[in-house]
Amino acid sequence: MLKRYLLAPGPTPVPPEVLLSMAMPIIHHRSPDFLPVLDSAKKGLQWLFQTKNDVLILASTGTGGMVGAVNNFFNPGEKALVINGGKFGERWTKICQAYGLKVEEIVVEWGYSIKPDMVEAALKKDPEIKAVFVQATETSTGVYHDIEGLGKVIKNYPDTLFVVDAISALVAQDIRTDEWGIDIMVGGSQKGLMLPPGLAFVSVSEKAWKKNETSKMPRFYFNFKKERENLAKNQTNFTSAVTLIIGLNEAMKILQKEGLENVFKRHARLANATREAVKALGLGIYSKESPSNSVTAIEMPDGIDGQLVYKTLREKYGITGAGGQDRAKGKIFRLAHLGYADTFDIITGIAALEMVLKQLGHPVKLGTGVAKAQELLMA
Ligand SMILES: *Cc1c(COP(=O)(O)O)cnc(C)c1O
Repeated sequence: MLKRYLLAPGPTPVPPEVLLSMAMPIIHHRSPDFLPVLDSAKKGLQWLFQTKNDVLILASTGTGGMVGAVNNFFNPGEKALVINGGKFGERWTKICQAYGLKVEEIVVEWGYSIKPDMVEAALKKDPEIKAVFVQATETSTGVYHDIEGLGKVIKNYPDTLFVVDAISALVAQDIRTDEWGIDIMVGGSQKGLMLPPGLAFVSVSEKAWKKNETSKMPRFYFNFKKERENLAKNQTNFTSAVTLIIGLNEAMKILQKEGLENVFKRHARLANATREAVKALGLGIYSKESPSNSVTAIEMPDGIDGQLVYKTLREKYGITGAGGQDRAKGKIFRLAHLGYADTFDIITGIAALEMVLKQLGHPVKLGTGVAKAQELLMA
């Protein structure tokens, strides 16, 4: 027997209470059975997003929410500024281009974070830019971008929308949608929200709804205006993903009981213990600036293949983490501390990493990283 552990940055583990809630019989999405469920879900999401704006609930993965954030607000030929600091930044560019936007990129070196000054300079230079697209956490590099700082800059440009992919950052980072002037923010169910994959969430500001009126891109499934009208009636445009939305309410209960501030503190504490344990082992953190509280990208020592670490952890110990993507493939190994994560997820991940590195021939004194993590997690 091999007991399985999921320590990847999505999908993430689902708490037993949430799993059980989703075992209930299916209810009808336009019946009085379901309307209060959706009402509670939409209020919970507003609490989590720290917003008074509508938060749309879509039956899709996170990327569906990203697509909707593009094809509901813009027109072909309009200019977009994309902050590209990794695989998911690249995805914004690809989606924008697929819908005919003219993309200007600020390429950020992998492992580094955007300087809001650079965005300010770009917006000053080109007043035609209709939106700035960014990741809150760039999952491929483990970097958290300065969303607050970017918000301060973009607020001064009344014709520019601030669009944030917070799919892997939500729950782990304190992101203040309204206070920081985020116009469109995308979340997903299978990361910090402790749910299976299948839901995307998108908050939309009044400024963005105004822009929506001018947008003529073709759309059918992701029609945000229709979703908004349905949301007001506690429904969705098409059949609601009733099971996942029931689970969402259960997950939200857990988060609300803990309290938002404590949720963020827990993630900060787990992330810090992970990073310090990694350093105690003599390894580097791939995120040179602003490491995220969702996932830690660990640099592999010379001669150790990150993909082999991933594979060995899975096959020998039943632990699924994540390797690197694209240019970081083989060079890093990622451990998530996101959503349904606590002290012994960190101890497990670090202990297993030590064992695998030793097995692959890297000189590790077993227990060094674990001891550091224990010390920090006891405090
Ligand atoms: C996981 C993730 C996504 C979306 O992935 P889906 O597979 O479409 O759910 C998008 N952006 C970031 C930053 C992510 O971590």
